[in-house]
Amino acid sequence: MTQRLLNDRDLDFLLYEFLDTDALLKRPRYQEHSREVFNATLETAKTVAEKYFANHNAKGDANEPSFDGETVHQIPETREAWDAFAEAGFLAAHYDFEDGGMQLPEIILRVAMSYMTAANIATAGYPFLSIGAANLIQSFGGEAERAKYLPPMQAGRFAGTMALTEPGQGSALADITTTARPADDGSYRIVGQKMFISGGDQSITENIVHLVLAKIEGAPAGAKGISLFICPKFLVNDDGSLGERNDVALAGLLHKMGYRNTTSTVLSFGEKGGAVAYLVGEPHKGLQYMFQMMNEARIGVGAGAAILAYQGFNYSLDYARERPQGRLPSNKDPESRQVNIIEHTDVRRMLLAQKAYSEGALAMCLYASSLFEDSHTATSEEERRDAFLLLDLITPIVKSWPSKYGLKANELAIQVLGGSGYIREYPVEQYYRDNRLNPIHEGTEAIHGLDILGRKVVMSGGAGLKLFNRAVAATLAEAGQYQQTGEFVGPLQQAQATLNEVTQTLVEKLAQDPDAALANATVYLDLFGRVLAAWIWLKQAVCASAALDKGESGENDENFYRGKLQATRYYFQWELPEIAPQAELLQRFDSAPQDMRDEWF
Ligand SMILES: Cc1cc2nc3c(=O)[nH]c(=O)nc-3n(C[C@H](O)[C@H](O)[C@H](O)COP(=O)(O)OP(=O)(O)OC[C@H]3O[C@@H](n4cnc5c(N)ncnc54)[C@H](O)[C@@H]3O)c2cc1C
Repeated sequence: MTQRLLNDRDLDFLLYEFLDTDALLKRPRYQEHSREVFNATLETAKTVAEKYFANHNAKGDANEPSFDGETVHQIPETREAWDAFAEAGFLAAHYDFEDGGMQLPEIILRVAMSYMTAANIATAGYPFLSIGAANLIQSFGGEAERAKYLPPMQAGRFAGTMALTEPGQGSALADITTTARPADDGSYRIVGQKMFISGGDQSITENIVHLVLAKIEGAPAGAKGISLFICPKFLVNDDGSLGERNDVALAGLLHKMGYRNTTSTVLSFGEKGGAVAYLVGEPHKGLQYMFQMMNEARIGVGAGAAILAYQGFNYSLDYARERPQGRLPSNKDPESRQVNIIEHTDVRRMLLAQKAYSEGALAMCLYASSLFEDSHTATSEEERRDAFLLLDLITPIVKSWPSKYGLKANELAIQVLGGSGYIREYPVEQYYRDNRLNPIHEGTEAIHGLDILGRKVVMSGGAGLKLFNRAVAATLAEAGQYQQTGEFVGPLQQAQATLNEVTQTLVEKLAQDPDAALANATVYLDLFGRVLAAWIWLKQAVCASAALDKGESGENDENFYRGKLQATRYYFQWELPEIAPQAELLQRFDSAPQDMRDEWF
């Protein structure tokens, strides 16, 4: 069975019906583009993904990178994929024309990248990280750093990494111990160890540009003392040629459950006295700068999780349509033909849940990408600010909800295949292993729970939450106008009221007893995620209803829209009601986990 990459009909729906991507063409930045240009970009992305990324998804998983003490070895297809991605111009596609880019919008590039991710999430990890690292240098680096590092990163000669985590510090970055000592020439010397650094060494590019968090000697304690540095694997001469090897050594590769073709590294900085590094921006603002890359990466992680869910859904759906097994309970005739398993209600339940999780998660991530775009290029200052505030509020959910439910979708895909789901001859177990990373990296679920409840809902006087409420109200008003979506209005109104009540109760407690208020923050994250997902589904259902009411759809389109409505119904009947017991537990500050003692385990 060949593996389909995502679903072009759904992507078209998400871009041009669910989101108004055509409206971007009216913005001065994109006036030279057209829908044809957008579609041609996506066609190219799909071709590159099918030809250069999909060909080694399983092979890269079975032949993970190795290190012989000097060199990292990887299957050659990895480099071919990187080169094809770079030659197609995707490493620089979002830059201005005058900087050698194609000036394409974020949302189009997010979808373009989605094809690579669907084909091979591990190999797609290299360009994903490198684009983020280059964006950080572009935003905060000085002119000299931009001139030196960006052209080779855009051309694909250099790749970038984000080097935050240390053996002793992951979630608590404020406590990192890597140090930076000022040198006489204005550069710094870095000493310390970083762990889990993706792409920290590899065999695909001439050079690697590490973006390293470290504390300048004598810096204030905590997050306020963290600075950001560029620390290349090979020093770069002023004419752009490669100089000496820097004092950054690969201490070893880590062996992972999934995402295997992305190298995972332990890096030692300064074993020979100090790795040469260059400060990005101002001292002690490193974490603030790094948040730009982390926030971009968080939408990317959510999208990656959604896409793996989508791939598992596609595969298990095709399988269920072809696999004969058993008969319906009402048929007692042993001589009758067996039905394909898609006829069994329980299999349909598992497929419908996967559809709700995967399509809902992808829609959520593309919506977040559209907010990112608006926060940069919307016409008015007010629109840009509102988009920023709303995105800032929902980023923890956009990262965490797809990661949690995308993984559940992959588990269901395995179950749909039965025994075949568990063996490596079929791709669904790899999707599950790959996806298991997503609730962990870029901040664990717990960290995002603390972030949304402890910071995001109260920031700027609760402006993000007000904007969210306004957006939900607008969709509810639209939904009331269609016969197909009327049934969803009451439940979402109720869910929105519950979310606001719970938020108020928890926020009031924050000031008096932060430990109790935040004790169950992960449950709050899930509750908010369910409400956001329900809203995203209702928005899709409204678009589907509008299209059906126009009555111009052919049979295929009609089935597509009916599928959207049915998935909305499933979400509202089976998933959204779960918020009631969650709200009850949160509002009475249930303390079973908090009161548990170490000695009682
Ligand atoms: C495959 C892979 C790739 C990665 N890539 C990169 C990369 O490219 N660059 C990079 O810098 N890092 C990277 N990471 C690191 C990743 O971001 C961290 O692993 C992650 O942030 C968690 O940190 P930790 O592993 O130290 O776990 P810990 O922080 O030790 O957490 C362990 C457990 O404790 C919980 N916990 C911790 N603190 C709290 C708290 N305050 N409240 C409640 N619960 C808490 C966590 O939720 C978790 O369940 C990668 C990790 C992996 C596995």
